[in-house]
Amino acid sequence: MITIQEALEIIEYNAIDLGHELIPLQESGSRILAEDLHSDRPLPPYDRVTMDGIAINYNGFKETAGSLEVTGIAPAGAPQATLDSPKACLEVMTGAVLPKGADTIIRYEDVNIRDGLAHVLIDTVVKGMNVHTQGSDIEENALLLKTGSRIRPQEIGIAASIGKHQIQVKKNPKTIILSTGDELVDIHQTPESHQIRRSNSYTNTRLVAQWGIKADQLHLPDDEGIILEKLEYILVHYDLVILTGGVSKGKFDFIPKALKELGVHQLFHKVRQRPGKPIWFGRKDNTIVFGLPGNPVSSFVCARKYIFHWLHKSQQTQASSNMYARLASDVTFKPDLHCFLPVSVSTNEEGILQAEVFPGNGSGDFANLKNANAFIELPRGKDLFLAGEIYPILAV
Ligand code: AMP
Ligand code: MG
Repeated sequence: MITIQEALEIIEYNAIDLGHELIPLQESGSRILAEDLHSDRPLPPYDRVTMDGIAINYNGFKETAGSLEVTGIAPAGAPQATLDSPKACLEVMTGAVLPKGADTIIRYEDVNIRDGLAHVLIDTVVKGMNVHTQGSDIEENALLLKTGSRIRPQEIGIAASIGKHQIQVKKNPKTIILSTGDELVDIHQTPESHQIRRSNSYTNTRLVAQWGIKADQLHLPDDEGIILEKLEYILVHYDLVILTGGVSKGKFDFIPKALKELGVHQLFHKVRQRPGKPIWFGRKDNTIVFGLPGNPVSSFVCARKYIFHWLHKSQQTQASSNMYARLASDVTFKPDLHCFLPVSVSTNEEGILQAEVFPGNGSGDFANLKNANAFIELPRGKDLFLAGEIYPILAV
């Protein structure tokens, strides 16, 4: 049996770059950027008025007694206006171009406009105030976003600001999520007393959706013949095959044998961890197969840890930075296995990430996961983990 570190290395070694594709910006959320984006103009693109009020020429204003003639109005969206006299002012709106000849904005709240005259009500007028200077955020042609960035709402906004209505993203693997087991029924069916609903398929579909992957789903009965027939087709038509169940020691756990028969090269089977020990990983040509254990917590941990690792490496994007938390209570864990424990992580009054443990009833207790926003990873080699000790966490 291999260690977690070895499993991660094997997965990394089998990362596959599927290239890139051009897609509409609106569909690019959660995808990985496959081009560098540069600013096409400085940001802001012009000296931008940041407050509704009046635009003045600071030096000219200082020579007045605080009252200026209002000679016009400059709304947002109009070409640059001109302040003809340095001792006059223009009304301006947020988002307008700073008028030619003006350099300072005084808010409406700080002036009283009556009979075409603006009376300034404040003593401290600072030259340049309430102006967002052209190029002060970003210069023209500056690198805005790098290849490999994850596209979140903020990246969409940045891309939109430079007119990227179509964007190059890393191609996602064509993915199928398979459930196995004769005890499983579809969520549209009412289970008999000896049956359960195949919830893992939905958890895993949602997990890979965090990468923008729209996975297909299929159920396989515990029938070697059908498993072989369906998998044969799937291995040709998909890049990423995620199986749950059927990889342990049970009489009907046909998956590893069937995959072998179909020429899938087993890269590892079983990792020194709990939950999730029976995980299976293999490859046939450019199709990657993850055989996750059926128990819902095991399936979840393995998908989050290993499939995400494969996606990070395949799409050459950074994993979010390593996170650590402090155990809030003592934990005893005797087996010589790397332990993933569901925890609720929150910041205490001192700003320290604290992990409250929700052990639950083991790998079948998926209802317990509602309490968790992370798994804390307790390394092999000791069996008592004390409150206050710091360990890595896997956010979920
Ligand atoms: P197996 O790995 O096939 O031995 O399954 C281990 C346990 O996980 C069994 O109790 C199964 O009923 C359960 N299980 C397997 N697949 C799923 C699934 N897709 N959704 C929910 N539970 C599952
Ligand atoms: Mg099974």
